Amino acid sequence: MPADPELDLRGRLVRSLGALREMLPGSFVERSRKCGKPTCHCAGGEKLHPQFLLSVLVDGQPRTFHVPTERAEEVRAKVAQRKRFEQAAAQIAHLNLRRFLRRKERP
Ligand SMILES: [Zn+2]
Repeated sequence: MPADPELDLRGRLVRSLGALREMLPGSFVERSRKCGKPTCHCAGGEKLHPQFLLSVLVDGQPRTFHVPTERAEEVRAKVAQRKRFEQAAAQIAHLNLRRFLRRKERP
């Protein structure tokens, strides 16, 4: 059977979805803030504290969850994983649509 580039692509996309079970919803947000202590190094406005947040719609409502610094990279990666999943799923669905439309037009 001749190689079908669309099926090859679809197979690669499906396989790329491997490590899905840890994916997280929402957006990862990184920002800097002052802690409010007048004697802290951040008080001058230069060396601020990094703050990591996960911004998610929960039941249609925007919610923001604090992410501990030691878990920031993990959460960032899990959000990125979900974005890759969504992109791959959309690509697979459109590829299948093209295939469906081509077959539909055959006699
Ligand atoms: Zn501070």
